[in-house]
Amino acid sequence: MRARALEDILLQLNNAAAASGRPEPRLLAVSKTQDATAVAELADAGQRAFGENYVQEAIAKAAELAGRGLEWHLIGHLQSNKAREAAALFDWVQTVDRPKLVEALARHRADDRPPLNVLIQVNIDDESSKHGCQPGDVPALARAIAAQPRLCLRGLMVIPTPHPDPEQRRDAFRRTHALFDALRAGHPTVDTLSMGMSDDYAVAIAEGATMVRIGTALFGARPAKG
Ligand SMILES: *Cc1c(COP(=O)(O)O)cnc(C)c1O
Repeated sequence: MRARALEDILLQLNNAAAASGRPEPRLLAVSKTQDATAVAELADAGQRAFGENYVQEAIAKAAELAGRGLEWHLIGHLQSNKAREAAALFDWVQTVDRPKLVEALARHRADDRPPLNVLIQVNIDDESSKHGCQPGDVPALARAIAAQPRLCLRGLMVIPTPHPDPEQRRDAFRRTHALFDALRAGHPTVDTLSMGMSDDYAVAIAEGATMVRIGTALFGARPAKG
């Protein structure tokens, strides 16, 4: 049943990419609040990359699913005091938004692991309630990341203002793509633009997303948090 949802989404990503003449994006399956059994079902169907918002939840789930070769992405806000655990568990951290976090992740990434892949989270709509750096802070933060051998700068991540109509998010996606192009020009390791969720991935793909983060459309609605 989840295998079917995965197949549907992959087809829709393919269609959205073809319709806009863009390459097909990678799918990050957002598994927050889902148990290890649900993740295992998708893994059995061929999905490899999973996104989690909370470090503790991810540690427990990844332990249950160890040995399956899954790739774990942190997509929730990271406090510096959790950087050690995050650097030990995750393959990617998509929410790097300040120099202090760059230093903490680099310090804790073990030498026997590949460098930690990082995305800079940009507060593209300048919302005071949101995490992420300002667009103007991207170049300096990118230089700080690129200077750390234990980190690999891969690109940008954004969560635009959730306007009810996804069309209203197009301009934010477009501005992010322009930032991404500028970043890529100066950093050869940059290849990933993470934007688009269950309700707006088609618009994000049309505006150049290379990775979409999808939870609800794969797993169904999440239970309300207590
Ligand atoms: C929960 C979450 C998603 C997935 O959202 P859906 O609408 O369920 O697809 C994507 N990105 C981030 C950062 C999230 O927190």
